[in-house]
Amino acid sequence: MSIEEKLGFNKFYVDESNAHIIVKKSDFTDEELVILNKIIKACPAGLYSLNEDGTLRFDYAGCLECGTCRILAQGKVIEDWKYPQGTFGVEFRYG
Ligand code: SF4
Repeated sequence: MSIEEKLGFNKFYVDESNAHIIVKKSDFTDEELVILNKIIKACPAGLYSLNEDGTLRFDYAGCLECGTCRILAQGKVIEDWKYPQGTFGVEFRYG
């Protein structure tokens, strides 16, 4: 079974009114773009991507709460990162 198939078993309880990750969406400096490209490649859920106009597309709904993007951001690009509150967030169903 592939990693993608295993990830497909996870269930997400999304807090629509309170994003647990808030990111800068545009007007990136060169340094921020370098960081952002690392995050795009590293996010195991593939939640980050750049639009053709250079703005960032990001949806926290499928977040695995691994913290990789927070570490790579080094205090830039990501404006706020916290675990989902209460009963919200990912429920791992395959390991
Ligand atoms: Fe992706 Fe992990 Fe960051 Fe969630 S915490 S957005 S899964 S890198």
